[in-house]
Amino acid sequence: MSLPEFKLLRPRTLDEAVGYLARHGDSIRVLAGGTDLVPSMRQKLFEPQYVLDIRHISEIRGVHPRPGDGVVIGALTTLTTVERSAYLREHFPVLAEAAATVASPVLRNMGTIGGNICLDTRCLWYNQSLTWRKACGFCIKKDGDLCHVAPGGSKCWAVFSGDTPPALLCLNAEIEIAGPSGVRRMPLREFYTGIGDSYRKLQANELVTRVFLSESSAGYRGVYRKLRVRGSIDYPLAGVAVALKRSNGHVSDARLAITAVNPAPMLVKGVGQMMEGKSVDEALAAAVGDLAAKTAKPLTTSALTPEYRREMIRVFTKRAVLAAAQN
Ligand SMILES: Cc1cc2nc3c(=O)[nH]c(=O)nc-3n(C[C@H](O)[C@H](O)[C@H](O)COP(=O)(O)OP(=O)(O)OC[C@H]3O[C@@H](n4cnc5c(N)ncnc54)[C@H](O)[C@@H]3O)c2cc1C
Ligand code: SF4
Repeated sequence: MSLPEFKLLRPRTLDEAVGYLARHGDSIRVLAGGTDLVPSMRQKLFEPQYVLDIRHISEIRGVHPRPGDGVVIGALTTLTTVERSAYLREHFPVLAEAAATVASPVLRNMGTIGGNICLDTRCLWYNQSLTWRKACGFCIKKDGDLCHVAPGGSKCWAVFSGDTPPALLCLNAEIEIAGPSGVRRMPLREFYTGIGDSYRKLQANELVTRVFLSESSAGYRGVYRKLRVRGSIDYPLAGVAVALKRSNGHVSDARLAITAVNPAPMLVKGVGQMMEGKSVDEALAAAVGDLAAKTAKPLTTSALTPEYRREMIRVFTKRAVLAAAQN
């Protein structure tokens, strides 16, 4: 499958990148590691007139601890760097663990945390070649007006399948967004819409530049578990991130987020209240698993049945909670 024709823009600074975004607005697509964008362009899911290759903007790369004030991670930081960062492993282990499960080592060397946050939603009816989509019929997410997954409805349910966002949600991450109208910061939990074909609150002329983790989220014990068909490379079909803080053997705070079972990665409501002040045992971990399974709404967007994926959210949550309590 060949790439569609496009003009490549290669800014060296953020200001230059924002200038290009201001000029070319809707006809531009940001390229970071390219591990998701390039295959999608080959499938003609995106045919932008301009591709903005931001890989040479060094100011938004790297893990930068700020003593007493958490850490700033540049959007262009590779997943390998996140996975191997001694600082993140010690202070924000759930993030390093989730990054280590993305795709394969080669893809993690190219893929960035910004690209993982901005990752397009996925569906069996969408992530296909143009020939395949033409033969089976286009859908709401691209070129059509019906949904094969939920026929009769007008919403796209394509599923968010990134691994690091649930970990980042557990850490109350904030992201920085830059564009022609300036720089803004927003909690990551407000970034996703829950709608498959317009899944993120990012204008076409904006880009994500940095991720902020605050000191108050440091030191949580963290675990990430995911279901995938091929253990060495695949996107998650269900994923669970847990971050726990304990004091005197009891949980003082707990956060849990799920991915790959809804159009957005989601924090599971009520986990903190359910676990606070308790010591973790099988019954409590199972109750948290039930809560997570209720939040998961998998549909036939992915390989493996929705029922199995929901059940695995329950199972992985229980295991992840027990593992986090033992860490
Ligand atoms: C075989 C295979 C397996 C994979 N398995 C997994 C997996 O297990 N888990 C997983 O999470 N992902 C997986 N991926 C997807 C991908 O490798 C990762 O999500 C990676 O983190 C994407 O980052 P990137 O820098 O390569 O993004 P790109 O491909 O460059 O971009 C991805 C999307 O984000 C946008 N974008 C990128 N950076 C920015 C930015 N800073 N601001 C605004 N928009 C931006 C792009 O325009 C594009 O729409 C897999 C990919 C392949 C090919
Ligand atoms: S959920 Fe429906 S509209 Fe969305 S990509 Fe799949 S088939 Fe298309």
